[in-house]
Amino acid sequence: MSNGAKVENPRFLGKTQAKIRVISKQKRRKQAPSRKHKVKASRRWLKAQKQVSKLQRKVGTQRSNWIHQEATKIVGSNSLVATEKLNLKGMTAKGAVLRGNNSSANTASKKGKRKCQKSGLNRSVLDVGMGMFRKALEYKLAEAGGVFVEVPSKTVKPSQTCPNCGCQEPKSLDQRVHCCTRCSYTEDRDVAAAKVMLSWALGTSVFNRGEGSSTSVPKERKHCGGLKQLASLKRQKLQVQPLGDLE
Ligand SMILES: [Zn+2]
Repeated sequence: MSNGAKVENPRFLGKTQAKIRVISKQKRRKQAPSRKHKVKASRRWLKAQKQVSKLQRKVGTQRSNWIHQEATKIVGSNSLVATEKLNLKGMTAKGAVLRGNNSSANTASKKGKRKCQKSGLNRSVLDVGMGMFRKALEYKLAEAGGVFVEVPSKTVKPSQTCPNCGCQEPKSLDQRVHCCTRCSYTEDRDVAAAKVMLSWALGTSVFNRGEGSSTSVPKERKHCGGLKQLASLKRQKLQVQPLGDLE
């Protein structure tokens, strides 16, 4: 968040997954149903299946519970929330599958490893429940009469931009601290990105402060209807009741 607060990743699946693995293995050793061989599932298989789905349901419930609590906290103290538009489908695309090339066993095992790594990463990305979180934030804000802004991250580039001077500089994913080369502004990477998004949403842009012509951001912002909508919404709200500070 832009005030420097951080929400810890709860990793619900990570905690329960070991248990799920153990019971799934037990389940695999029992008589599974098969339409091809015309066999019913054994009672033991059904029992193990029940245990697995119970654990999976537990993870889901924990996740949605946490999401609603956190979203309520955020909406309770803020009337404007700006988040990044996340391409979850693109982020969690499957790893490359190796198909019948005349490659050696070595490369095959390497590719298999990468695929496993990617699926593990996907699992931890999806474990947070970002899509659900975003939706919860959106409807809770709508109920409370707040404003939800989705920042187009492809044009704004929150994590690549300095919140102080607005210059853009590519960062790799393992760089967790933002340190500007132009104005030597230092801040945590995620906090800096949140600040950029907030200033974009409020329109008090850092992008025009410097020599803005070098970046394409100010041009594209003119075409975006989001700010106009936001301004009109804010005006409506101010007429109804005086607001606290926007954050
Ligand atoms: Zn800077």
